[in-house]
Amino acid sequence: MDLGNKAPINAGNQVHLIDGFDLGMPGRTGTYVLQGDSLTLVETGPSPSVPHIIKGLKDLQLDPDEVKYIVLTHIHLDHAGGAGLLLKECPQAQVIVHQRGSRHLADPSKLIAGARAVYGDAFDELFDPVLPIPEERITVKGEGDTLTIGENRVLEFFDTPGHAKHHLGIYDSWSNGIFTGDTVGIRYHQTEDCGVTFHLPSTSPNQFDPEAMQISIDRVLEMNVDCIYFGHFGKSTEPERVLREVSQWIPVFVEIAEKHYSDNDPHESIQQHLHEKVTNFLNAHDVPDSHPVYEILKIDLEVCTMGLIDYLNKKKDKS
Ligand SMILES: [Zn+2]
Repeated sequence: MDLGNKAPINAGNQVHLIDGFDLGMPGRTGTYVLQGDSLTLVETGPSPSVPHIIKGLKDLQLDPDEVKYIVLTHIHLDHAGGAGLLLKECPQAQVIVHQRGSRHLADPSKLIAGARAVYGDAFDELFDPVLPIPEERITVKGEGDTLTIGENRVLEFFDTPGHAKHHLGIYDSWSNGIFTGDTVGIRYHQTEDCGVTFHLPSTSPNQFDPEAMQISIDRVLEMNVDCIYFGHFGKSTEPERVLREVSQWIPVFVEIAEKHYSDNDPHESIQQHLHEKVTNFLNAHDVPDSHPVYEILKIDLEVCTMGLIDYLNKKKDKS
């Protein structure tokens, strides 16, 4: 496997970001490395990212043996699927996860089935292998819990549903920043060359809840953090702008889904209208139609469409 030459990104405050090349693409999903008394990683990405993590640690002159904690924002495979494989390289490490996620780490069969339903034939290439994690290596954290990883560095955990019910927000006291996984959306830095970085909600199946998502976003807004560390991808130092931007898109996504839910082919139709809406937005910011960001948007908006339909199906069943 060619791991390339990309060095870990220095995000300041003794945080580095190792690119995990999820989907074979740069700048998609990464692992944050928090240096201090207890070497801590946040997110692993899927198993194919593990060799990148090991190489990134070496680049930082760190030994996988020293890793004390592997913190997972949530258990979707593009964020946590590699945890079982990575643990084999990190004999001291304990995995930190939300209460609702722990049993699926110990027995990933449901996770695998869920991801196969979303990703189909691409599953093996994207996620294989998903290894079970021994129960004694799993530590559960929830709302208000803390983890001291250095003399002046405490992580505090928040329940942040909306994207998934098994989602933690992780506040870092040292940088006054928060690791948000997918709850407050995706950061599209790929258009930086056009002078714009934009953010969209991630409405993946099968626990998307727009109201819970907005409440979680409002909680992060109230924290007055200096930065947000995104699951996809990188650090933003404009938390307020970003959180308001994602808040504005949530009802737009839901309205498009509601409007086209009864169309002949709702999947095709909703996806197309989401695409159109985002394209209009990007055109207004002078991003050309040929820009590579559209490759990524195609994948993301397809998954968003699945989650929106799933949300509306459940809403209909309830009424
Ligand atoms: Zn997710």
